Amino acid sequence: MVDYYSVLGVQKNATSDQIKKAYRDLALKYHPDRNPDKAEAEHFPSPLICPAVLSNDEKRKQYDAYGPEGFSQKYSAEDIFRGSNVQDILKEMGINLNFGFGGQDLFGGMFGMGQQQGDIGQSILYRMDVTLHDIANGSTKEILVKHVKKCGECGGSGGDPGSRLAKCSECKGTGYRTVIQNSFFGRIQTTSICNRCMGKGKKYEKMCRSCNGKGGVVASEKVQVRIPAGIKSGMRLKLEGMGDFGGDGAGDLYIDINVLNDKTFSRDGDDIITEISVPFYTAILGGDATAPTLEGNRRIRIEQGTAPGTRISIKDAGIRRFGGSSRGDEIVIVNIYIPKSLSAKERELVEELRDLKGDAGTGNAGSGGRRFGIF
Ligand SMILES: [Zn+2]
Ligand SMILES: [Zn+2]
Repeated sequence: MVDYYSVLGVQKNATSDQIKKAYRDLALKYHPDRNPDKAEAEHFPSPLICPAVLSNDEKRKQYDAYGPEGFSQKYSAEDIFRGSNVQDILKEMGINLNFGFGGQDLFGGMFGMGQQQGDIGQSILYRMDVTLHDIANGSTKEILVKHVKKCGECGGSGGDPGSRLAKCSECKGTGYRTVIQNSFFGRIQTTSICNRCMGKGKKYEKMCRSCNGKGGVVASEKVQVRIPAGIKSGMRLKLEGMGDFGGDGAGDLYIDINVLNDKTFSRDGDDIITEISVPFYTAILGGDATAPTLEGNRRIRIEQGTAPGTRISIKDAGIRRFGGSSRGDEIVIVNIYIPKSLSAKERELVEELRDLKGDAGTGNAGSGGRRFGIF
């Protein structure tokens, strides 16, 4: 018969702190995350009974009095865990539980003594690329989501239509099973959720053939996703209940947003920035130019004597603020287009302009500096 003190590797007179530390060391050693060898990892929950007994003054006294053999005859695992919560025992031992998306924790599932998590479907995470156009005013996009959806045949019950709900034969309606394991730690009695009825105590006499009694089937479904205006990369949308189906509620669908870079516009908060080129004579004389916006091209006014790099603001042509109603602006940076070659006529005209201004620069590329004509 296994002795709880020797399982934990502590002396009979060990303090409660020594017991806790010994259990933590064991937990680390046998935790399934650290044990790719599943057969060995499966032993891990069993030693939980040791601290459950030894860290409770009353139970420890009984254990010391009756000895391992007498104690296990007198008390079942159920007796030991009755009135205590597995998660509290573990917390007391300094072990934090990791709850997965499905809400099922390692120990609650193994012992069936923790909080009943129920049959909640898994949550799903997707990544979605959106463009500046998608987010300027908000939009709706359709995606194809592969998830477990409610079985249409049985309506999610898992029972064959017309079949009766009866007491589970495996657990006799209790929802849990007591198992005697001959494990690494000796003969240990544990209690776990009945895996036939998933702890419900009831089961349909005949299973639904479409879903094999699971209540859900894997399917690809079109899902409409509303993209809020002004959303930024790294933000996450949550579509409640759009994850996997579960008998006690569906999981959620999470969508991580990635805003793609745009060829024409860069983003500065709610403002967008673009560049255009205008001919030098437009910059000198003033005139109209075409600028792209998120809603198509727009004519903008170029003032007489516009310098290269001038920023022109188009009000409310940017991105709608996330969660707000106001819109950012579009900033148009004006570049001046200088032609590489001129026709004879054009050259004549530009030279005439230069002479008129009295600038007698040679025009030689290497001459450097600016020369002034004689007035
Ligand atoms: Zn079904
Ligand atoms: Zn059952």
